[in-house]
Amino acid sequence: MASYFDELHVDEDEVPTVRVERLTRETFRMLFDHDPIRYGDMVNYQSSPPASKSEIEKLITPLFDELLGEQCRICLCQYQVNDKALTMPCKHIFHEDCLKTWLEKSNFCPLCKFELKTDNKMYELYKEELKKRQARENNIAQLHDLMFS
Ligand SMILES: [Zn+2]
Ligand SMILES: [Zn+2]
Repeated sequence: MASYFDELHVDEDEVPTVRVERLTRETFRMLFDHDPIRYGDMVNYQSSPPASKSEIEKLITPLFDELLGEQCRICLCQYQVNDKALTMPCKHIFHEDCLKTWLEKSNFCPLCKFELKTDNKMYELYKEELKKRQARENNIAQLHDLMFS
């Protein structure tokens, strides 16, 4: 008779932290397979976790020239001489305060939905899983094209 451990594929030699990570991933895969609509919502814009603090700290300050005549698309105000601003990795610029407040609620760029990393392990695992799925679907689509075109 198969034991509980057999079913969970627990290898006694596996390092506990590795095991937890792997089991979390497997659980997540099961949830996703069970109800993709519901768990798919976790990457949804509104319910995304805040951006990781370390990612926010990495954002760079734009040159003042880049701000001239431009407006922050969060508060819709023109940049003034002493305004502090930050550049997202996608090159979109916002006021430092506006952007930080925004990133406490969402890890997406307000303009293009570029994603910063988060500290939420489940969310990061989920995104990884979703990416793999999309890659797999693309492969299948390409294969289909190869076979039937
Ligand atoms: Zn602003
Ligand atoms: Zn952007």
